[in-house]
Amino acid sequence: MILILAALASLSAGAAQTGLSIDRDREVLFQVSTIDALLLAVYDGVLPVGELKEKGDFGIGTFDKLAGEMILLDGVCYQVKEDGVAYVVSDDLTTPFASVTFFDHDETVLIEEAANLTEFVGILEASLPSKNAFYAVRIDGTFPYVRTRSVPAQERPYPLLADAVSDQTVFEFVNASGTIVGFWTPQFAAGINVPGSHLHFITDDRTAGGHILDLRVDGVEVALDVTASILMALPTAGDFFDLDLTGDLSADLEKVEK
Ligand SMILES: [Zn+2]
Repeated sequence: MILILAALASLSAGAAQTGLSIDRDREVLFQVSTIDALLLAVYDGVLPVGELKEKGDFGIGTFDKLAGEMILLDGVCYQVKEDGVAYVVSDDLTTPFASVTFFDHDETVLIEEAANLTEFVGILEASLPSKNAFYAVRIDGTFPYVRTRSVPAQERPYPLLADAVSDQTVFEFVNASGTIVGFWTPQFAAGINVPGSHLHFITDDRTAGGHILDLRVDGVEVALDVTASILMALPTAGDFFDLDLTGDLSADLEKVEK
């Protein structure tokens, strides 16, 4: 209930002014392209990281040619390449797919029991104030186990994402301190983003991480930022323009995420 009231308050505050207020901008989830376009091999970067950072200080995505996993955290953008190392990226590197927002800690979910990724997501979902909202998810802590992956840059003709991930490198972290960065997306946004949770990881020293395939938590505090608005930037040329996006790609998505 607190969450709903906060969202309404921020909307009415913004509406009372001409144009977008800074506060209202902070409650926008900004997204580049769609997950289904990425599944269908639209990998050419369309937005520079420098411009992405004007839309948020927190988020995840990938880079031009599908080169690695993006973690945007506290305003710094990292690229976890196929060697598992997190590199700070320059503002001119581009992204074909990313989701970012300005992270404001609205809600806390305490998960006291030990859990794997599936169990963790189940407990988190049961604790969400609404399943019809977009949440940015941040967890700072020490994790008994995290398994991540990264994918190398692809070459034309681009393979579908479900095939490109066969090139993925997998990394394991044991008793790792770090931050989980990601989003929980409502089911109604299928095709636009990943329904349910999509989480990336970066170590405390910001040197390694990737897209989370599995993990163990043992008592964590999950910080949630509910975003009341979503803004999408779609490519206006290139592979995206002639793409058939009418199909149901949920089976492909399942393969890619797990
Ligand atoms: Zn990912």
